[in-house]
Amino acid sequence: MTGSPVRKFTDKTLIVASHNSGKVREIGELLGPFGLEVVSAGDLGLPEPDETGDTFIANAELKALAAALAAGKPALADDSGFCVSALNGDPGIYSARWAGPSKDFSVAMGKVWAAVEASGSTDRRAWFTCALTLAWPDGHVETVEGHVQGTAVWPPRGDHGFGYDPMFVPEGHDRTFGEVDSAWKHSVSHRAEAFRQLVERCFDGGPGS
Ligand code: IMP
Repeated sequence: MTGSPVRKFTDKTLIVASHNSGKVREIGELLGPFGLEVVSAGDLGLPEPDETGDTFIANAELKALAAALAAGKPALADDSGFCVSALNGDPGIYSARWAGPSKDFSVAMGKVWAAVEASGSTDRRAWFTCALTLAWPDGHVETVEGHVQGTAVWPPRGDHGFGYDPMFVPEGHDRTFGEVDSAWKHSVSHRAEAFRQLVERCFDGGPGS
């Protein structure tokens, strides 16, 4: 947060402001070494605010603040998405919406590939972005953003992970995020990179401290 000192997270319980089970699982794994109790917004019955921001960071901040205010405790939100170069960064912040009301990511991946082919571009570069915001009930926020670069591939491969994982191969590797286990994904992912930044900024002493 510009102009105000960095705030450290010192509570024992952290609310994860997400109703996406894939994300909540990965966030739980990434926070595992900190011995925190992680409670999801879904478990607490907190409402899901409309994602009205036009950047990942704006959406992460509005989700984290809504949960922190509703719960009266610090809350962490992740706003993330799959960005394709040939589509000028789409689906981007609309990644969840491309899956439609049934949240079917085979449909979403098919739409992405159809759009890539329709674009006539041979550019297959793609990346994931993850903005993470830790918000406090008094309105203070700490926000970071992580990325992983790679290639969009077709057909999708593997059934690990969630969302667009089966159609993304990270740079320097040959398996999709759908073909690797979560520990491997965390070694390179956008979410793990954002967590590294957040931990460095807000968690004194790192895991187990
Ligand atoms: P939102 O942040 O709730 O708007 O949703 C982000 C959407 O981006 C998810 O529903 C996924 O489809 C996609 N996404 C974000 N992170 C990942 C990831 O690590 N793997 C695959 N898809 C992801």
